[in-house]
Amino acid sequence: MSVQNNKGLLLVLSGPAGSGKGTVVKQILDKYPEDFGLSVSATTRAPRPGEEHGVHYYFIDKPAFEERIEQGAMLEYAEYCGNYYGTPADYVQKKLEEGKNVILEIEVQGALKIKERLPDTLLVMITPPDFSTLEKRLRGRGTNTEEDIRNRLATSRWELSNLERYDYVVINEDGKAGDAADEIAAIVASEKKKTCRNKDFAKIFFEN
Ligand code: 5GP
Repeated sequence: MSVQNNKGLLLVLSGPAGSGKGTVVKQILDKYPEDFGLSVSATTRAPRPGEEHGVHYYFIDKPAFEERIEQGAMLEYAEYCGNYYGTPADYVQKKLEEGKNVILEIEVQGALKIKERLPDTLLVMITPPDFSTLEKRLRGRGTNTEEDIRNRLATSRWELSNLERYDYVVINEDGKAGDAADEIAAIVASEKKKTCRNKDFAKIFFEN
C-alpha cells in the first residue's frame, strides 16, 4: 500500500493547428489506457466527415450549448473561429475522483480559464519543432484554403505568445508522436510526486 496521493490529475493539452496534438493524445490513450481518460467536448460546429457524436465531440446546437452554460454544466467554454467549444464538467469530476488522469485537448483561452478556476491543473503546450515545420504540415494537409492556412499561422503566433503561462512545452517531431506521448506521461508521473500535491503525506503515513 502507498499513502501517496492517488487522485487523478487534470491535464490540459493545447497546441497550434499542425502541432499534431490529436495524434499525441491518441498515443497517450493507446499506450497508457489505465492511467488516462479523455474528456469529450461539446461544440456547435458541424461534424467533419468521419466524426461521430459522443466520440469526437458532442455536436449540439447553439441554444442547447447556451442552456448548458446557464446550468453551470460547463467546466469552461470558449468561442473559437465562430463556434462554441466547451468541457462538460460531470465526466471530468467523476474520473478525477476515480483516480484517472483526465486529458482536455483544448485551445489556449479555455486552458487559461481552467487554470484560474482549478490551479492544480497541469498545462502542457505541444508544438512542432519550428515555424517552418508547422507551415509545412498545414500545407501538407491539402484540405485547407490559403486564407485558412494564413489564419491558423497567425493564430499560432498568439498561441505561442502564451507559452509562459503553460507549465511545460513538449515538441512533437515529425513521425515521433509516440515519444511525445511518453514524455507527457513522464511529466505527469513526476508532477504527481511533487510535495505540494502530497500535503497530507506525513499525516496519513503515521496513521498507517
Ligand atoms: P476543431 O474544430 O479543429 O476540432 O477544434 C478547434 C480548437 O478548439 C482546437 O484548438 C481544440 O483543441 C479546441 N477545443 C476543442 N474542444 C474544446 C473545449 O472543450 N474547450 C475549448 N476551450 N477548446 C476546445
